Amino acid sequence: MFEKELKELLSANGADLIGFSCVKTSLPQELSKYPYAITIVRRLSRAVTDTIQGAPSMMYFQHYRITNTKLDLLALDAVSFIEKKGYLALPIAASQSTPDEKEEYKGLFPHKTGAVMSGLGFIGKSGVLITNKYGSFVRLATILTDMPLEPTGEIQTSKCGACNICRDACPAHAITGEEYIPGHPRKEIFDAKKCSEHMKTYKHIGRGAVCGICMSVCPFNKKRIPVEE
Ligand code: SF4
Ligand code: SF4
Repeated sequence: MFEKELKELLSANGADLIGFSCVKTSLPQELSKYPYAITIVRRLSRAVTDTIQGAPSMMYFQHYRITNTKLDLLALDAVSFIEKKGYLALPIAASQSTPDEKEEYKGLFPHKTGAVMSGLGFIGKSGVLITNKYGSFVRLATILTDMPLEPTGEIQTSKCGACNICRDACPAHAITGEEYIPGHPRKEIFDAKKCSEHMKTYKHIGRGAVCGICMSVCPFNKKRIPVEE
C-alpha cells in the first residue's frame, strides 16, 4: 500500500536500490513481530574502490564508514514514514556488532537475507551480496516492520559458476569455493572468524574493520559504472 511512497522518499534522499521482502520465516523469535523488511542499498564509489590494490586503503575505510552513516540516516527516514502511518519500524544498523559471544560474527538480522529475498541480487562464493545492477561494492541497511509490503522480487541462485577468483585471492583462506545455497549455513561457503581476524591486520589503516580484496577481484565489479537512464 505504501511501497511507492517509501521508494520515492528513499530514492529522493539517496538510496540507490530499494527492496521489499517478507522475512518472517528467517526471523529469530524476538523479532517475529516485524515480518517485513526494507533493504536499502548504497553503492560505493568506483574511484574509491579502485584504490583497493591487494589491500584496503584509508580512502576505502573512510568511504565505507560515511556510507554506513548515510544508510543509517536513510533508515531513519523510513522509520519516521512508517511510524507516521501507524506501524512499527526497527532499523538495523548498516554496520552491526553484537556482544553475544556465541554469535560473535553475526548481526541482529543479516542485511543479506532481506536483500536476497527481495530479489536485489545473489550471494557470491565470497559470502557477499552481488547486486544485479552494481555488483558487490555496495553497503546495506535494513528496516524491519509490521507494515505489509509487496516483495520486489524472488530469491536468485548463485551466478558464480566455475569462478573461484575470490577464493584464490583471499589472504585469510576464508572462502571455501562452495556455491551459496539458500537456507544453508554461511559457514559452508565462508569462515567469518578467519575473515575478521585477517581484517585486524589492517589496523594501521582501518582499525581492523575492512578488507575488500575479494570484492576488488570479482568479475561482477569490473563492469562499467551504470549510468542513469
Ligand atoms: S574481506 Fe578479505 S579476508 Fe575477508 S573474505 Fe574477503 S578477501 Fe578474505
Ligand atoms: S570472484 Fe567469482 S566466485 Fe567470487 S563472488 Fe565473484 S563471481 Fe563469485
